[in-house]
Formats: sequence, structure tokens, C-alpha cells
Amino acid sequence: MAKEELECSFCGRKKPETNLLIAGLDAHICDRCIEQAHGIVVEESKQSDTSDLSAELKLRKPQQIKAFLDEYIIGQDTTKKVMSVAVYNHYKRLLQPPSNDDIEIQKSNIVMVGQTGTGKTLMAKTIAKMLNVPLAIVDATVLTEAGYVGEDVESILTRLLQAADYNLEKAEKGIVFIDEIDKIARKSDNPSITRDVSGEGVQQALLKLLEGTVVNVPPKGGRKHPDQKFIEVNTENILFIAGGAFDGIERVISKRLNMKAVGYAASMSDNVVDQSNLLQYIIPKDLKDFGLIPEIIGRLPVLTHMDPLDEKTLRAILTEPKNAIIKQYKKLFDMDDITFNITDGALSFIVNKAIEYKLGARGLRSLCEEILTDAMFELPSSEDKKLNVTKGYAEEKLTKTTLKKLKAVS
Ligand code: ADP
Repeated sequence: MAKEELECSFCGRKKPETNLLIAGLDAHICDRCIEQAHGIVVEESKQSDTSDLSAELKLRKPQQIKAFLDEYIIGQDTTKKVMSVAVYNHYKRLLQPPSNDDIEIQKSNIVMVGQTGTGKTLMAKTIAKMLNVPLAIVDATVLTEAGYVGEDVESILTRLLQAADYNLEKAEKGIVFIDEIDKIARKSDNPSITRDVSGEGVQQALLKLLEGTVVNVPPKGGRKHPDQKFIEVNTENILFIAGGAFDGIERVISKRLNMKAVGYAASMSDNVVDQSNLLQYIIPKDLKDFGLIPEIIGRLPVLTHMDPLDEKTLRAILTEPKNAIIKQYKKLFDMDDITFNITDGALSFIVNKAIEYKLGARGLRSLCEEILTDAMFELPSSEDKKLNVTKGYAEEKLTKTTLKKLKAVS
């Protein structure tokens, strides 16, 4: 075949009619056909994103979702169960075909109440990992009403877009974890006396986002600027999970329970109420009394609590989850052919120090780091290929000064 007769094997255009003609083994393809084919690939992969999710849900019923959470998170059974159902329903809602009955499934946004370090963030991260959807973690304390110093609520969606590598479709099915939601509570529960502008204003601004709306989002974050191009993000299918410690809410719960106890049920409730974990009795009204506005509570219809971490749980956190801290150190040492062992006595010692110094689960890692740093520095270049951490070894490495330092940073 003469050179000028070359043509695209897909559309038949002659070479001079194309900008580019790429040769394959026995065929050619022109620039236009490449573009068209690329469009088809993108379209197909979009469809398979949704069908991935639907396949995921067929595979994972609420019980399987909980089993997945069990692999990474110790205890917190109530929350795991509640989350599994909420997440399952949320994505079922997302996959429902358009129907003409008037039943519209509402969003199942979630609010988790529990002390810091009990696994709220971990819960949101694990759900996102399971579903393979993007996750944005934002701190409610940096949010302010438009016009004030701080970040607009839209910045939440900028984060989500970033987490989704700016794939809008993925972002619109993602998860947003809003931490420290309790910090934007109204300072007084009497709106007519004290109007706490920053807190209540942010709550108001969040409302629309939680419910589902189209928001103009500055893709690079920062303040809205007239020259900046916006991306329109629809929040209708984004799952919002809020978390907060709600320090002092136990008093609200206790007061409510006691008020009830004054009546005929007094003797009964005295027996039933577990004073060591009052959060388990939390109801939406307690959030209102704490200072969340009723509209926000209405848009976070799934309310659940985290149990405080006791000694047994802390101990299990060290060794049991799929990526437990001790397993991670084992792996690190393994890479240098070092056999790492830690005795039960040493593990109990670490847990007790975490409790004594009120370091919580987050402190477990820092404690291990302090104990193992010397070994991690020395052993890789030493002949010694064994490390056995006993209680004595741990005690020796963990001086009072380091403990005080850990407490200061926690
Ligand atoms: P929160 O968001 O409630 O403040 P995080 O989820 O950030 O707490 O937890 C802090 C760390 O403690 C996590 O990285 C995790 O390693 C550990 N952790 C806390 N609770 C649990 C738990 N129930 N199971 C396993 N690990 C936990």
C-alpha cells in the first residue's frame, strides 16, 4: 500500500484528513477515534463504579459490614450494629432505581457521641475503606459562618473532592466525617438570651449540606473569590458522620434519668441505670439540651454512643485488630529479620500506664514508640536478631520524664 493511502481502520478517514494517525500491528487509528474511544472507556468505568457499589452491597449485608468492622475495631458493638444498618440503608437509597411511588428514602446521616480516642474516626475510616469511597475528615472547630475568620462550610467539600482526586462522581458518593461537632454547640440552650454567633451560625450553615443540596465549591479551598471557578457538588448522596465528645453531657442524661426516677419507676430505674456508662442512654433531646439546634439533630437521625475503653479493651487494641500496633512493630522488625516478642507482663504494663496517665488508646502507640525506639535504632545494624520485651525492659525504657512528656502532648 502506498503511504498516502493510509487510513483510519475505524472511521475510514484518509491520513491527510486526520491530525494524527497511529499505527498498530495491522491497523491504524486516528486522533478522533482515539478521543471517541476514550470517552466510551470513561463512561463505562463510571457505570462500573456504581455497579461496584451495588455488587459490594449485595455481598455485604449489615451483618457482613459489622464483621468487617470487627476486624479493625475492638468492642463498640452497639455503634457497629447501628452504623452497619445506617450505611447499608444509605447506599441502598443511593442505588434505588427511580420509582413513581412517593416513598423517598431519607438520608441516614449519623452522629456518634463518645470520649476522644474511643474509635470514632477509626469507625468512619473503616467504613470508607470497606466501601472504597473517598473520605474527608474535617474538624468542626475551624468552621465559621461565611464572613468570619476561619473556613466556610464549603471547605468540607473541597476536602472531599481532594480525597476523590477531583473525581466529582466519586466525591458525590463519599463520606464526610465531621469531628468535634459538639464544639459548635450553642453555649446556652436558651436562644433568646445568649445567641452564640459562631456556633449556631455554623450549625445553620451545615444544615443544607447535611440535607442534600448543590453547593458551589472552590476546588482549591480558601475563601470564595469572584474570579475562582467553582465545582458544583451535589451533597444528596454524601453520607455525613458527625462525632463529638460532648463533655458534660452525662450530667444532662443523668438529670433527665433522675427526673424520670422521681415518679413511680424510681426503684426500678435505680437498679437499671449503669452509672459508669451513662452515654448508652443518650437520646436526641440530650443533644438539644447540650446546644445543638433541633434542625441539625433532625438531619443526623442516627444517634449512637461509644463505650469508654476499659483495661481489657485497651489490651485487645494493642494486639487484636487486623493492623494492631504490636502487629505493625512485628512487621517492621521482620523486615530486618529481627524476631520481636513482647510478654504479657509488658503488655499489661503498657495498658496500665495508658490508664494511669489518662492517655487513652491514642497513647498506646506513643508508649510503644518510647519503649521500642532504642531497639529500632540499634538492632538493624547489630548481630543481635532477637528482641524480647519484658515488663522490666519496658519499665527501664519508660522513665517518668517521658511519661510526663506524653501526658503533656496528649
Ligand atoms: P476518636 O475519633 O474517637 O477521638 P480515634 O478513632 O482517632 O478516636 O482513635 C484513636 C486511635 O486509637 C486509633 O487510631 C486507634 O488505633 C485506636 N482505637 C481507639 N478505639 C479503638 C477501638 N475500639 N478499636 C481499635 N482501635 C481503637
